[in-house]
Amino acid sequence: MSPANEPSFRESVDIMFNRAVALMDLPPGLEEKIRVCNATYTVRFGVRLRGKIHTFTGYRSVHSEHMEPVKGGIRYSLGVNQDEVEALAALMTYKCSLVEAPFGGSKGGLCIDPREYDDHEMELITRRFAYELIKRDLINPAQNVPAPDMGTGEREMAWIADQYKRMNTTELNGVACVTGKPINAGGIQGRTEATGRGVQYALHAFFNDEEGMKKAGMTGTMKGKRVVVQGLGNVGYHAAKFLQEEDGCKITAIIERDGALHNEDGLDVEAVHQWIAKHGTITGYPDTHCEEDGAKLLEAECDILIPAALEGVINLSNAANVKAPLIIEAANGPVTAGADEILRKKGCVIIPDMYANAGGVTVSYFEWVKNLSHIRFGRMQRRQEEARHQLVVDELERLDRYMGDAWSMTPDFKEKYLRGAGELELVRSGLDDTMQTAYQSMARVWHDRDDVDDLRTAAYLVSIEKVAASYRAKGL
Ligand code: NAD
Repeated sequence: MSPANEPSFRESVDIMFNRAVALMDLPPGLEEKIRVCNATYTVRFGVRLRGKIHTFTGYRSVHSEHMEPVKGGIRYSLGVNQDEVEALAALMTYKCSLVEAPFGGSKGGLCIDPREYDDHEMELITRRFAYELIKRDLINPAQNVPAPDMGTGEREMAWIADQYKRMNTTELNGVACVTGKPINAGGIQGRTEATGRGVQYALHAFFNDEEGMKKAGMTGTMKGKRVVVQGLGNVGYHAAKFLQEEDGCKITAIIERDGALHNEDGLDVEAVHQWIAKHGTITGYPDTHCEEDGAKLLEAECDILIPAALEGVINLSNAANVKAPLIIEAANGPVTAGADEILRKKGCVIIPDMYANAGGVTVSYFEWVKNLSHIRFGRMQRRQEEARHQLVVDELERLDRYMGDAWSMTPDFKEKYLRGAGELELVRSGLDDTMQTAYQSMARVWHDRDDVDDLRTAAYLVSIEKVAASYRAKGL
C-alpha cells in the first residue's frame, strides 16, 4: 500500500520500537530478544473445489512467548505475506502487554479473497487450514489462541473451534482454542462490537485528557466533531456507529475499497452499512457525492480521522496533506514510520494502533476466561444483586410515600437501579476500565517525560517495560 521507497510494514514497526527503546535502559541483548519474531510457520495445502485441487498459502507467526498462550487474529486477504503477519504478531505482543491481557503475541493469515468462494467452500478451506495449525499446536487453548481479523469473523471462528474439538475429543477446554466465536458456540456478548467499542472508549479517554487535547489544538466535546472513517468493516462500522449514535459525532466521509461517500452534514452510518451489505459496493448510494478515488478523502478537512481498513494507507505520498489534528489508528499499522514523523512534526496527535484497537483482544481475553471457567459472567451474582437493590428501592418507596409532594424518586431510577448487570454490561464495563487504565498509563509518560513527544512512543515504553519485566522474572 505504501510507496516502494518506504520500509516494509515489519520494518516500520521495528523503527517505531527502536525509537522507544533508545529512551530505555534495557540490558544488552534483551532489546533484540523482545524485538525479533520467535518463529513463523508457513503452510501450503490443497483443497479439492469445483473439480480440481486449489493450493493455498497460510502463515502463523509467534512473536513472543513471554506469556502463554500467545494470541492474535487470523486474516483472510490476498495481501497476506510473511512480513505482514510478523509485523502484526509483534503489534499483538505490545498490545497485550499495554492492556494487561496475559498473552504473548501471534498472528495468522491466509492468502485468499474470501469473496471468490461460497460458504461451503470457505468452510472446507478454513477447516483444512485449521487442521494444519492444530496438529502443530499453533491453535491450542493453552498455547496459541486465534481470533477474527480482516476477512474473518464469527463464522470462521466457529468452524475452527469445531475442528479443534473433532481432533481433541476429550479436551475439556477445547472451546477456548479460539475467540470471537458466536454466542451459541461458546462466544461472549459484546465481542463483535468490541474493537469499535474500544475505539469509542479510547476517544472518550482522550477527550477527558485536557493536556492531550491542548497538544492536538482541540477544544470542546465529541458532539458535532467531524469524523472521516476508512473501512466500514467490523471495526470501522462499529466505531462510526457508536460515535454517531451515542456521542453525536458527524461522520462526514466513509472511504471504502471502491470509492468514498462525502457529506459535510453527516452520513447515516447504519444506512450506508445496509447499502453495502445489500449491493456489495458503496457506489450508487442515494443523494450523496461519491468520490471515485476514495483515499483522497484521507486528506479531507475533519476533526478526527479513523483509518479502520488496512496498513500503510497514510504514507510518505499523502502524510503532508492530512489535515486532521487527531488520528486514531483503528486498523493495525495504517500510518507508516515515515508518515508518523511528518505528522508528528505537524503537531498531529496519533492515538496508536496498539492501544486504539486493543478492545478486540481485551474482550477476547474475557471470552477465553469465560470458556475456561465454563460459566457465563454474571450468572452467580445477578439475581442476588437485584434482590439487594430491591431492598433499597423498597426503603426509597417508603420514604417517597412519607415525604408526599416534598420529594419523589427520579422517574426511571427504579428500573435502572433494579436491573443487575448481565454479561454485556459486565463486558463493556471491563473494556471501559481497560481502555481508561491503559490510556492513563500512556498519557502519564507522554505528559511527564521531556524526551517523549508522542503517544506512540509512550505506548511502546509502557508496553516494552512490562515485557522486559516478565523476561527478567524468567531469569533472562
Ligand atoms: P473487515 O474485513 O471486517 O473490514 C475491513 C473493511 O475495509 C472492509 O469493509 C473492506 O471493504 C475495507 N477495505 C479494504 N480495503 C480497503 C481500501 N483499500 N480502502 C478502503 N477500505 C478498504 O476487517 P476488520 O476486522 O474491521 O479489520 C480492520 C482493521 O482492524 C485491520 O487492520 C485489522 O487488523 C484491525 N483489527 C481488527 C480487529 C477485530 O477485532 N476485527 C481487532 C484489532 C484490529
